[in-house]
Amino acid sequence: MTVLGAGIGGLAAAIACKLRGYSVEVIEQAPALTEVGAGLQIAPNGGRVLDALGVRLAAPESEAIHIIDGLSNRSVIRMPLGPGFRLVHRADLIAALGDRAQALGIAVRLDRCVRTIAQDGRTLHFADGSIHRVRRLIGADGVRGAARAFVAPDHAATFTGQVAWRAIVPVTDWPREAQVHMGPGRHLVCYPLRDGRSLNLVAVEERAAWVADGWSQRDDPDVLREAFSGFAHGVRDLLDRVETVHLWGLMDHGLTPRWTRGTCTLIGDAAHPTLPFLAQGANLALEDAYTLARNLPEPSAWEALRRPRVARALSAAQANATRYHLSGGQRSVALSGLRLLGRVAPRLPLRGYGWLYDADVTGEPS
Ligand SMILES: Cc1cc2nc3c(=O)[nH]c(=O)nc-3n(C[C@H](O)[C@H](O)[C@H](O)COP(=O)(O)OP(=O)(O)OC[C@H]3O[C@@H](n4cnc5c(N)ncnc54)[C@H](O)[C@@H]3O)c2cc1C
Repeated sequence: MTVLGAGIGGLAAAIACKLRGYSVEVIEQAPALTEVGAGLQIAPNGGRVLDALGVRLAAPESEAIHIIDGLSNRSVIRMPLGPGFRLVHRADLIAALGDRAQALGIAVRLDRCVRTIAQDGRTLHFADGSIHRVRRLIGADGVRGAARAFVAPDHAATFTGQVAWRAIVPVTDWPREAQVHMGPGRHLVCYPLRDGRSLNLVAVEERAAWVADGWSQRDDPDVLREAFSGFAHGVRDLLDRVETVHLWGLMDHGLTPRWTRGTCTLIGDAAHPTLPFLAQGANLALEDAYTLARNLPEPSAWEALRRPRVARALSAAQANATRYHLSGGQRSVALSGLRLLGRVAPRLPLRGYGWLYDADVTGEPS
């Protein structure tokens, strides 16, 4: 078994396959197992996969999701979370997966960039001109990877009309919660990482057009500050601390028509890139990895069982985008309704996501 990509999905798939007795190798373009400095929220559904794979991850639990009116800095609703929601530094998650892979003796071949996959699905052509033959391939090389280009070559994405910035800023004594500061046409999500001395920021703004590709493009922090200049001092103070910021356009990829071609099966972002408004991309990649390993060598059956859950998560993420950016009368009504709910039943809104967070794919037959 060859896994292409040593990201979250690829390493998890390699571990899951190895635990089921497959001989596994992982091919990764980066020269080292590392990740850019950014955060991730791992929900109980993804955490259960990590536990089942024996991956030990030290990361603080998140206590709540706190919606705040970005214009006034007033609390709207603080929704307490049950156990199992973790605030994770990406580098820590990759390191934990890498350690587990190493302990299981999985070969991770670094600095090997696959340029194309031949029509037979079994021949990998590397950027340095070399060739590698595989028997079965799990494509976990992300949205711009060679595996997705092989399995779904004509699947185009459309710009959602939103761009996002990510940054990390220093803080002290930040509450262990994910805050969503909402404003008309834009919002900012922030949560603390590691020992609480750094805050992960993702800021989203609606825009008419976008041309650049990828999510590693640097931007001027003043552009971000200007976009949120109408927000209250709490957010403006955070943005004043930003020194380095990355910007990318949010694309709607829809549900890729197929995830398997011949002996190559896609998982994670390669199969179904998701918008970040539900914080589930990595969690879904973990679920994919575990369930695919259990269903090999019948990936088509796995795909048929897996699609409805992934489709539901993708549309739930899309729905959040609209809710966060309301303006005018709709906004006032929504904020008043949420404030009332916050006083009488603050846990209620998250109960609607039981289908997502409470699922234990490690215990189900598919
Ligand atoms: C700002 C932001 C915040 C997010 N927050 C959350 C969150 O809170 N919770 C959550 O669950 N998800 C979140 N996500 C989504 C999550 O990051 C992704 O869904 C997840 O990383 C997908 O993992 P993956 O393994 O499928 O792909 P990737 O993480 O993209 O990994 C792909 C790997 O393949 C390698 N690769 C690519 N091309 C090649 C090639 N040609 N040859 C060899 N190797 C190759 C790459 O180097 C990389 O290591 C967020 C995303 C963003 C952008």
